[in-house]
Amino acid sequence: MTGLVADTSEHRLIRQSTAAIAARYGHAYYSGRAREGGHIAELWADLGQAGLLGVHLPEQYGGGGAGLAELTVVTEELAAHGLPLLIAVISPAICGSILAAHASPEMKASWLPGLADGTRRMAFALTEPDAGSNSHNVSTTARRDGLGWVITGGKYYISAADECEALLLVARDGGPEGGLSLFVVPTDAPGLTLKPIPTALVSPDRQFTVFLDDVEVGEDALIGAAGQGFRQVFAGLNPERILAAALCNGVGRYAIAKAAEYARQRKVWSEPIGAHQGIAHPLAQAHVGVELARLATARAAELFDSGQDAAEAANIAKLAAADAALAALDQAIQTHGGNGLALEYGLADLWFVTRLMRTAPVSREMVLNYLATHSLGLPPSYEGSHGRDIST
Ligand SMILES: Cc1cc2nc3c(=O)[nH]c(=O)nc-3n(C[C@H](O)[C@H](O)[C@H](O)COP(=O)(O)OP(=O)(O)OC[C@H]3O[C@@H](n4cnc5c(N)ncnc54)[C@H](O)[C@@H]3O)c2cc1C
Repeated sequence: MTGLVADTSEHRLIRQSTAAIAARYGHAYYSGRAREGGHIAELWADLGQAGLLGVHLPEQYGGGGAGLAELTVVTEELAAHGLPLLIAVISPAICGSILAAHASPEMKASWLPGLADGTRRMAFALTEPDAGSNSHNVSTTARRDGLGWVITGGKYYISAADECEALLLVARDGGPEGGLSLFVVPTDAPGLTLKPIPTALVSPDRQFTVFLDDVEVGEDALIGAAGQGFRQVFAGLNPERILAAALCNGVGRYAIAKAAEYARQRKVWSEPIGAHQGIAHPLAQAHVGVELARLATARAAELFDSGQDAAEAANIAKLAAADAALAALDQAIQTHGGNGLALEYGLADLWFVTRLMRTAPVSREMVLNYLATHSLGLPPSYEGSHGRDIST
């Protein structure tokens, strides 16, 4: 590969094995499954069996013992083959990272091997209709009851909840400090219901409102210590941002590669359209944006893996990657003329999944809030300043 990020020999191997699997499926498989309402079970199983979903998880629990840098290679390469899987960001990256950092040895032994080999999946349930970006206002409550907990409340926009065995759920624990706690809640628990949210996204991972009506879970459903949920959830926020950036970088590469190929072939005057600077320059500019975002993403993963503060880099990478991917996709569509809008060319149907990355997992504005207050020392515009703008 050309570009600003040089793969280590290990990264090259991971990239090659991801690419070999991804190429067997391709974008048509992804969009076909998305339109039929199906999932990507076979692809997930192949990735799991190849050890690619748990590259960053501890070896002791069935993972590869590497880091987030290696997982970004997997996620980027999948997206670069037209397979931008939200579940890849959610189950291994957010849930896997939080469990690896904070779960008890029993919970790790129960969950991590399955997350790593793809046989088990977990969704992440933080967002609530009333709290939105201000995660401190989460109002789903968990109260102690006998030997366990009873959870009541609701979440929305919970991706892939129907594909997952459990939710990693953030709830207010009702303790004296009104802290937040994290729970692993089975999706088939009595009292838990899922309602699909129709969206414009073309993705095999669908969105759900989750209703929790006196859902009973045991004490062993609690992750780490009660009341420490906010601190613990941060173990997953930087990985989430870094992996979202990696997904965007893959989409950017996919779009530019398709556009360059089309521009080399398509001839409506004496030369291929790629010879016109009106086509060539915006694509070259899009390449600059995507490569800079890849560099920022690699740097953020490197900081995270070495135990340093990765928050600023993760936020920068996520914002830059989302903008670069969307610019690249837009230019790729433009390069294809009318065909850019045809489903056959596999570009237009990626629009909303890519556009989503400006809004989730953390919005552009909340990233800029973080950078304004933490990097530039500007005064916060709202009380608390402890929403999703903060991080580990
Ligand atoms: C397709 C999809 C999948 C998702 N998947 C998941 C998931 O799996 N799990 C999960 O927990 N959540 C998920 N989300 C939720 C997502 O994280 C939120 O939508 C996002 O964080 C924004 O929250 P909100 O929608 O409530 O918007 P709001 O918080 O209501 O914000 C509305 C607008 O106001 C801006 N805004 C808010 N506060 C400020 C401020 N202080 N300064 C400046 N601007 C501000 C926001 O940036 C945004 O532009 C998903 C969302 C979507 C659309």
